[in-house]
Amino acid sequence: MSLNFGRDLLAIPGPSIIPDRVLAAMHKPSPNIYGGPLIDLTISLYPDLKTVARTSGEVAIYISNGHGVWEAALRNTVNPEEKVLVLATGFFAERWGGVGKSFGIDVEIIDFGARRDAAPQQLEDRLRQDKAGQIKAVLVVQADTASSVKNDIPALREAIDRAGHDAMFMVDCIASLACDQFEMDKWGADVMVAGCQKGLMTPAGLAFVFFNDKAKEARKHTNPGMYWDWVSRTEPEVYYQRFCGTAPTHHLFGLREALDILVHEEGVEAAWQRHERLAAAVWAALDRWSSAGNLEPNIAAPSNRTVAVTTVNTKKGDAGRIRDWCEHQAGLTLGIALGFPLEEANDHFRIGHMGHLNPPMLLGALGTIDAALKALGIDHGEGAVEAASSVVAGHKSV
Ligand SMILES: *Cc1c(COP(=O)(O)O)cnc(C)c1O
Repeated sequence: MSLNFGRDLLAIPGPSIIPDRVLAAMHKPSPNIYGGPLIDLTISLYPDLKTVARTSGEVAIYISNGHGVWEAALRNTVNPEEKVLVLATGFFAERWGGVGKSFGIDVEIIDFGARRDAAPQQLEDRLRQDKAGQIKAVLVVQADTASSVKNDIPALREAIDRAGHDAMFMVDCIASLACDQFEMDKWGADVMVAGCQKGLMTPAGLAFVFFNDKAKEARKHTNPGMYWDWVSRTEPEVYYQRFCGTAPTHHLFGLREALDILVHEEGVEAAWQRHERLAAAVWAALDRWSSAGNLEPNIAAPSNRTVAVTTVNTKKGDAGRIRDWCEHQAGLTLGIALGFPLEEANDHFRIGHMGHLNPPMLLGALGTIDAALKALGIDHGEGAVEAASSVVAGHKSV
């Protein structure tokens, strides 16, 4: 017998769940792309995107996924053979570096492993050694979606300042934007990249590079090529230059609706708080499950965890069995292991809790994982769903 009947729940860390309203907004015929409402709709997106990023800088919109804006951010600011310093904390920052390497950027990595955040002191020490100023940019992810670590962006900024170094500070918020608090201007990020398919609740296909005056200055000394150039996208003479060709019409409809929900209805700060509460519920459940010694959070300290996704470590093979049971017996899809050695593929799973999510969805997911542990005979602490519901009720936090 299978109980898998009803609406499936996707709890992977991106793409995230798309609100029905966003889907409905996309369900219409192709518009005129040379004039009319599409132009105004497009222009209305920029201030709202900046509100989400907390910046008064610029934002270029690309028809791409996260990998595309990784490349765009680097091509506009760093030349081949120049050096960038990558703070690796799982999977994604190193991969960003890999994109740069693929077109000749000199990539140096400080590897902090997959279980802790990047240490500001190590960054400061390395930058102090760079007397010649060879390091053009420091690359970090705010939330590493593989390890589920959250890096301390303000502390890393302070480390750069203490070292008195001129490197640009470039932050990947692809997983964390509109989930974890992020303050681009106040925290001193020069470049920030994000995608539409995680906290922004829109089908994968749009991605963003936010940048400030310092990054604009760097752009004067690079040649990013026509497609990745952010100048034509932010200072277009004609509309089609915003996307270097045909506009992503239906993604723009979807994003407009998603930003209406996020910025004009819920509010960005309320969205952060909702994510904090729902993440705390996940961690309360995980705490209970872990008490029998067979599961553990990958990131020990709650203050170092992103509120967008939680990586769980299990005994050999259990994570694979839990994922299988949840998907096939119950219709709940959990995230796979990412950024761990291949032989550990079935020893980690991830619970995505980003974007369009409320207590019935989340408690349903946690209750389903709880049932999987029972069905599979994986010894676990009792009371996990109870603990989560207390957090949802506001009675306690982790
Ligand atoms: C998802 C993700 C990416 C990659 O985005 P794609 O759209 O798959 O290219 C990069 N960085 C982080 C932190 C992510 O979570």
